[in-house]
Amino acid sequence: MTGDLIARVKELYERNPEARRIVEAIAELGRRAVRELGRPVKIMNFCGTHEWTITHYGIRSLMPEGVELVAGPGCPVCVTPGHYVEALANLSMDGVTVLTYGDAFKLPARRGSRFRSLADARAAGGSVRIVYSFLDAMRVARGGGGEYVFFAVGFETTMPSTSHPLAAGAVPQNLKILTAYRLTPPVMRYMLESVSDVRLDGVIAPGHVSAVIGANAWSFLPKDYGVPTVVSGFEPVDVLLSILYILKMVCEGRAGLVNEYSRVVTPSGNRAAWGEVLEVHDFVDAYWRGIGVVRGSGAVLKERFKRYDAGSEYGVKVEADFTDVMPGCRCGDVVLGRARPTDCPHFMRGCTPSNPYGPCMVGQEGTCRIWGENLPAVLDALRRVRIG
Ligand code: SF4
Repeated sequence: MTGDLIARVKELYERNPEARRIVEAIAELGRRAVRELGRPVKIMNFCGTHEWTITHYGIRSLMPEGVELVAGPGCPVCVTPGHYVEALANLSMDGVTVLTYGDAFKLPARRGSRFRSLADARAAGGSVRIVYSFLDAMRVARGGGGEYVFFAVGFETTMPSTSHPLAAGAVPQNLKILTAYRLTPPVMRYMLESVSDVRLDGVIAPGHVSAVIGANAWSFLPKDYGVPTVVSGFEPVDVLLSILYILKMVCEGRAGLVNEYSRVVTPSGNRAAWGEVLEVHDFVDAYWRGIGVVRGSGAVLKERFKRYDAGSEYGVKVEADFTDVMPGCRCGDVVLGRARPTDCPHFMRGCTPSNPYGPCMVGQEGTCRIWGENLPAVLDALRRVRIG
C-alpha cells in the first residue's frame, strides 16, 4: 500500500479499535466463503454513502482475495432522467424560477438539448436557484412572488420533505413540484430479476432509506432471492460488520436479514413520515437513467395534490428515453455493478468532478465522483484487490 491508503486505514483503526479484529474475521470467513462457493463472492453496497465510506477508508484493500465489493444504484442524482433537466432548463428561460439541490445543478440533460444542464441554463440567463431543503424552497417562493418549480430528486429518504408540507396544506400555490423521486426496493428486485450477468451473494442495504421505510422492507431479498442482506450504518466499522455478517451467512449457506443499524433503523421505519408519503403519492412504473423502466419505482402526486404538480402545469412529459445516456458513458453499468468507474474511457479524462460528463460524476453519492475524489486510495486498493 502506498502512503495515502496507509494513512486512511490507520485512521480507520484509530477511530475504531474493533475494526482490526473485524477485518481479521472477514479475512478468515471471506477465504472460507470463496472456497465453499468455488468462485468470487460479490457483495453490493446499494447506497452511495456506503460507497464513500468503502472508498475513502480503503475498505476494498482490506478484503481477502475473491471478496468483491461493488457499488449499486443508490445515487438518486445518477439515475434521474435527463428529460426532467431539459424541461426545467427550458422553463427557467420562460419566466419560471427553478429551485434545485446543488447536487442536481450540473446534472446533464439529454443529448441534443438546448442546454447541457441547469448550470448551463443559468449561465445563459435562465432563472435557477440552489436551495438546501424544500423548506428553503417554500421560503423563497413565499418571499418572491412569481412562479417556482422545485426539482424533487431523491429516494424514500427525501420524500417526506415534500410530503409533509403538502399533507399539511403548507405549500404556497406559486410553488410547483417536479416529482422525480425513485423507490429503492423495486430497483433491487429489478437488479435480481433482470440483470442476470451480475450475481450477488450479499447486499448492504441503505441505512438512511431504511430509517423511513423500515428494515423489514428488505426482507424480500433473502426470502424471494436467497440473498443475505444487512441494513448498515455509515461508519467504517458499521460497513465492516455488515460485510462480516454477510460472509457468515454465505459460509453457513443461509440467507437472512440483519439490521446492523438498529440504533437508527426500526423494523417498520418511521410510520408517520411514510404514512404521509403514501397519502400524497401514487406509485407508478418509472424510467431510471442508464437502467430502463422499473416496475412500481416512481412516484406521482395523487389527484388531490395535482395543483402542485409541475408535470401537469407545464406539460413535462414523463417518458423513457435513452438519449440521456452520453456516448461512451458507462454510468448505467456502474450503477448495476457491471463496471467500475475506471472501466470508463472518460473517467478522469473528459469526465471529472469539476467538469462532469456523465451523471455518476455529478452528485456526492455518484460512484464515479467518489472514486475521482479519492483517486490515490482507489488506485492503491485496485493494485491489491481484483474487482469484477
Ligand atoms: Fe459516465 Fe463519467 Fe462515470 Fe464515465 S466517468 S461512467 S462518463 S459518469
